[in-house]
Amino acid sequence: MVEDTDALSVRCRFCTWVGTRKAGWRSNRRTKKQRYRCRCCKKRSVLDDGFLKRSHRPGTITKALDLYFSGLGPGRIVQYLGRHHRVRVARKTVLDWARAFGRCVYEFLRALVVHPRGRNLHCDEKRPKVGRRESYFWLMALGTPHYIVAANLTRDKGWDRAKALFREVRGRLLAPVLAVVTDGLGAYNSWTGMVPSRTRHVVVGSFDAWPNNNRIERLNGSVADFLRRRGLHRMDRARDLLLGWTVHHNYVNRHSRLDVTPAEATGARLPLEGDAWRKLIALAT
Ligand SMILES: [Zn+2]
Repeated sequence: MVEDTDALSVRCRFCTWVGTRKAGWRSNRRTKKQRYRCRCCKKRSVLDDGFLKRSHRPGTITKALDLYFSGLGPGRIVQYLGRHHRVRVARKTVLDWARAFGRCVYEFLRALVVHPRGRNLHCDEKRPKVGRRESYFWLMALGTPHYIVAANLTRDKGWDRAKALFREVRGRLLAPVLAVVTDGLGAYNSWTGMVPSRTRHVVVGSFDAWPNNNRIERLNGSVADFLRRRGLHRMDRARDLLLGWTVHHNYVNRHSRLDVTPAEATGARLPLEGDAWRKLIALAT
């Protein structure tokens, strides 16, 4: 229940006037929400908590997101929600949530700056099949535990693709990285000349050399796990899902040995205890 004093600080969704009074509840089969009446335009509305116009409970949606990005397929999530929460959802609905919230939260988080804390930037690309054609999933991540600074899914492996990602990385980092570690794909040479710094570009020759890309290969392993279970058919959908996965990887999933999320390891302090997806969605709204 929200206090009346809070209703005075609620902003109207229609005319942006601050100041409403409570006006009953909006309910559907599954959930109910406080309704407010604007003191200016007199329209009634509910708060936009990120779940506006979603008929399911926020808790159901974030549980589905957590399970999906942890690697459970949509069919199994539907079964799980039916068994434990008596909620009937379609598989497509689960995928729609993953897409919509994945993209929305990713877009919000990509504006945040990151301190590399003296770590290397590892670059690698994965080649998932999207609509039966090969595509490139680019990952640029800081050292262990891997914080993904920039990612993208493209059809080609052009020079511009890597360059755009490097540009994004440069915009987000508060300090230069020690070195840029790549696997020698030609496109990564676009790093040269990007910044007038002493950042080394290390092309990995062998696994014995240091720094090497072994660690990001492991990150790639978990991407591969995620990709293996689902057919990706369209580029735009696949991109949303993969970017959503990077959010889960960075902010939700805890490193099994270090017991921190990669975001916490970079020093980011976002209040995400408990239901991290719910809090991310609230922040992004
Ligand atoms: Zn209004």
